[in-house]
Amino acid sequence: MARVRVESLRKEYDVGTVVAVDDLNLEIEDGEFVTVVGPSGCGKTTTLRMLAGLEEPTSGTISIGAEDVTDVHAKNRDVAMVFQNYALYPHKTVFENMAFGLRMSTDMNEAERERQVVETAEMMDIEGLLEDKPDQLSGGQKQRVALGRAIVREPDVFLFDEPLSNLDAKLRTTMRAEIQRLQNELGITAVYVTHDQHEAMTMGDRIVILEGGELQQLGKPTDVYENPANEFVGGFIGSPSMNFVDVEGDTRGDTVHLTGLEGEFDFELSRAYVDQHVDSLSSNRYTLGIRPENVVFTDDDRNSITARVSVVEPVGSDNFLHLDIAGEFIARVDPAIEPQPGEDVTLTFDEDDIHLFDSETGRDLLGSSEEPQAMVTS
Ligand code: ATP
Repeated sequence: MARVRVESLRKEYDVGTVVAVDDLNLEIEDGEFVTVVGPSGCGKTTTLRMLAGLEEPTSGTISIGAEDVTDVHAKNRDVAMVFQNYALYPHKTVFENMAFGLRMSTDMNEAERERQVVETAEMMDIEGLLEDKPDQLSGGQKQRVALGRAIVREPDVFLFDEPLSNLDAKLRTTMRAEIQRLQNELGITAVYVTHDQHEAMTMGDRIVILEGGELQQLGKPTDVYENPANEFVGGFIGSPSMNFVDVEGDTRGDTVHLTGLEGEFDFELSRAYVDQHVDSLSSNRYTLGIRPENVVFTDDDRNSITARVSVVEPVGSDNFLHLDIAGEFIARVDPAIEPQPGEDVTLTFDEDDIHLFDSETGRDLLGSSEEPQAMVTS
């Protein structure tokens, strides 16, 4: 068990023409489960590989516990990595796969190794597979063995690189819960890379969001959802994605209206709201963000948008209404609300559900979040 600290970490490839990770600062608490998420190419795997010692940073430092491990070889770091493709030795049995790491990284005698492997196999519910070879196992069983092989070593840190990507949806859900249970029981610090924001949100004590090699936000899942640091995070976290509309602030007397959509949208902010956010409302061009689940139907013309429904997507628990507002705009409504495609509907939302982003920098203007929450701990 250990705390992980990453300071000013940078990784360049191809003589500096590709910056995979750019000035990354992270502090992961002892026993914490941190998920790392972002679009393809944002630097997730490179970050994880640097933590594992499989990739050398261009600059910056990595510490595990009290030790600066930046120049420590992978095999001498007390970390265990679980890969998407399982990475099991095909000619070794499950038992041998699990025992191999122990033989390499500890000075346990054979009897101790056997006891440890059998105990871990029981914990993972794979004790009946110990004499099998990997090609006799299903994908889910292989991933259990890969996890067991990581756990048996009792490392300081678990590193997971999209470990569930090859499994079907049902098995993923089971394995997610299993990984969380094991990590909780063992209390081992874990860093878990995924491109799936749902997985990142449901598994992480805190979530790291990367884009273009840079940290966008680090926070608890609910904080990141409720107070995205910028437009990118607002759009990336949450499904369906947050809707965006370009608006201008229009001061009329002692209140402010947000206007846009070529005059179709005119939203009057309350006096209390303006007083509370007066500093944020000093610029006059914003990107307004509103989540699909915060859009409601109204009979009142005030502060509303009338729009045509283009597609109705029923997903069982909700209906997703695709509307012809500002490109792509989705309202997530009760399944009992079933307008027909082509029908006009009138919508509104509460001012407290609005996010306002700087139209130049994308930075959230209303949230309490500072610039990327690099070193914020829970
Ligand atoms: P994915 O979700 O697609 O796996 P990722 O977020 O894990 O993406 P990385 O694999 O870390 O992203 O890659 C980050 C950037 O670094 C990408 O632009 C990638 O093309 C580049 N990159 C990664 N490895 C190398 C390499 N060995 N040589 C050159 N460029 C690389």
